[in-house]
Amino acid sequence: MHVSEILNELGEERENYFQAVSPAIIQTSNFSYPSVKAMRETLQQEFERPFYSRGYNPTVAILRQKLAALEGTEDALVCGSGSAAVAIAVLGNLKSGDHVICVQKPYSWTYKLLGTLLERFGVETSFIDGTEISHFEQALKPHTRMVFLESPNSMTFELQDIAEVAAFAKRHSLISLIDNSYASPLFQQPHALGIDLVIHSATKYLNGHSDVVAGVICGSKKIISRLFSEDWMTMGPVLSPHDAWLLIRGLRTLELRANRSADNAAFVLSGLKGHSKIESVYFPFDESHPQHTLARKQMKRCSGLFSITIRTDDAGIERFCDSLKHFQIACSWGGYESLVFPVAGLAIPPEKRNPLIPDNLVRLSMGIEDPKLLLDDLLLALEQV
Ligand SMILES: *Cc1c(COP(=O)(O)O)cnc(C)c1O
Repeated sequence: MHVSEILNELGEERENYFQAVSPAIIQTSNFSYPSVKAMRETLQQEFERPFYSRGYNPTVAILRQKLAALEGTEDALVCGSGSAAVAIAVLGNLKSGDHVICVQKPYSWTYKLLGTLLERFGVETSFIDGTEISHFEQALKPHTRMVFLESPNSMTFELQDIAEVAAFAKRHSLISLIDNSYASPLFQQPHALGIDLVIHSATKYLNGHSDVVAGVICGSKKIISRLFSEDWMTMGPVLSPHDAWLLIRGLRTLELRANRSADNAAFVLSGLKGHSKIESVYFPFDESHPQHTLARKQMKRCSGLFSITIRTDDAGIERFCDSLKHFQIACSWGGYESLVFPVAGLAIPPEKRNPLIPDNLVRLSMGIEDPKLLLDDLLLALEQV
């Protein structure tokens, strides 16, 4: 199916809704039945039919179909945040005594989930470099059950060879998970490379308008329906029908936005190339990236997010960020607006900072503005360093 069909048509059933072009927001908690028999029949298929909106809601179901199709999986579950999606996908596939192999710099709350919260329940995690398949082989234990990838990650952009790790996981009967938020399903398709569950913070590129927090888990019907009835329904991390509708609206322009942000990143990076104040660039398609060959092998494009390190101290970093006029100082990324996020602005005392992330690192998220406006703003701000 063409991406346009997924974004504009799939799942919308307009004939049942007055041929309305925009889908209905079915803002209801529950659904009623003409008879007890009809209710009983519905309840037997709670995964696929409307009974109670914690389970199935028709507006949310449109979104589930679109996101599953974008990732090339049979089904998907949407959640009230990307972190909830990570938590359900991880918890739903582990029990006490299991061991997880995870990349060493995942999203901070994923790190906390695996490194702290799950440790309380007797799950052990090895955080590994992950840039070589041998790192996975060395970390393998008799009770290893899961591998968790984030390729690339969202501060320093290391990659894993997705197909190679998926094959490793299959050889050892491990379930494989990846956080694919950076690339979006347009630029990287991990399920086609053999990964079992693909997770997104839909807050980022999928929604793209910085007005919804949401997450998604994409996978086979078998795994998704099990997660639905055993884990997702008990923990209840729902997305509201209204937020699902906003996300469907955001998705309409996914191709336009993702490509424009990517174009902007490429333009800005070429304009910054060789600048005397810039120490290094972190961007998977940049020639200086140690894994740029792998990046080009498994990703169609890089998105609009990258980092730079600037030759200065914390005060210089502050002057740089504060003098930007068209970048807002904020966390998150993947929206229509450009953002700057300095490590120096984290409220973490230096001794607790991740030593693998340089203090002079600044992350930039390209929005969909005029690329020249963004480049000129950055060049002017670099003069303040
Ligand atoms: C933001 C983010 C998350 C968490 O998603 P939320 O929607 O904020 O809960 C997970 N992974 C990555 C890579 C992210 O950037």
